[in-house]
Amino acid sequence: MTASERQSLSADLVIAPPAVPTLAVKHTNARFPVNRIFCIGRNYAAHAVEMGHDPDKEPPFFFLKHGGAVVSDGTFPYPPESADVHHEVELVVALATGGSDIAVADALDHVFGYGVGLDMTRRDLQAEAKSLGRPWEVAKSFEASAPCGPLVPASAIGHPDQGAISLAVNGHTRQEGDLNQMLWKVPEIISTLSRFFALQPGDIIMSGTPSGVGAVSRGDIITASIGCIGNIKVDVV
Ligand code: MN
Repeated sequence: MTASERQSLSADLVIAPPAVPTLAVKHTNARFPVNRIFCIGRNYAAHAVEMGHDPDKEPPFFFLKHGGAVVSDGTFPYPPESADVHHEVELVVALATGGSDIAVADALDHVFGYGVGLDMTRRDLQAEAKSLGRPWEVAKSFEASAPCGPLVPASAIGHPDQGAISLAVNGHTRQEGDLNQMLWKVPEIISTLSRFFALQPGDIIMSGTPSGVGAVSRGDIITASIGCIGNIKVDVV
């Protein structure tokens, strides 16, 4: 679609379209437009165990957050209808190009860059959904459920497959792991996702969390870090 086609379409909309969610690109004034947010479950063995599951590598499973769930202003508004909201620090993978049936060997060619993100989770509602066999959206895809830091282009740092990933609350370390502990590696995640979805430019992937997830409260300060990417600070408000 050309820019003028887009403009004429937008003139016919009966209500204003939602703003495109974006993430900053480190060391530039440019921003990355976020399309969908794909998340992989139980991608670190120690986290699978703490959630009561087998640590063995099983076929990956995915869930989505709405793209508008990204928030990058350094705050996380505590959501309603939950008394047990957990942090999950994750490597964020941002796609510059999409495709279907992407080969593992070609997968990293589609990556624009990487960031530090939080897959915030209403754990009480997730546990209820699991026990009743219901979908996870209320637990995972609420507003501002994906605080993310600026993206670092792969052209600057390459494609990290190892390095410390950690999270602290009020200065006390809660989560500590290494990217090399991922059961499904980033190229495998992209390749598998592309069999089920036609991936699109702007899609981002949250690649799973190491062990140590736990609850946050209003007033807490979350800091999270991934070796070669950087740090984020998020105030729970
Ligand atoms: Mn997660």
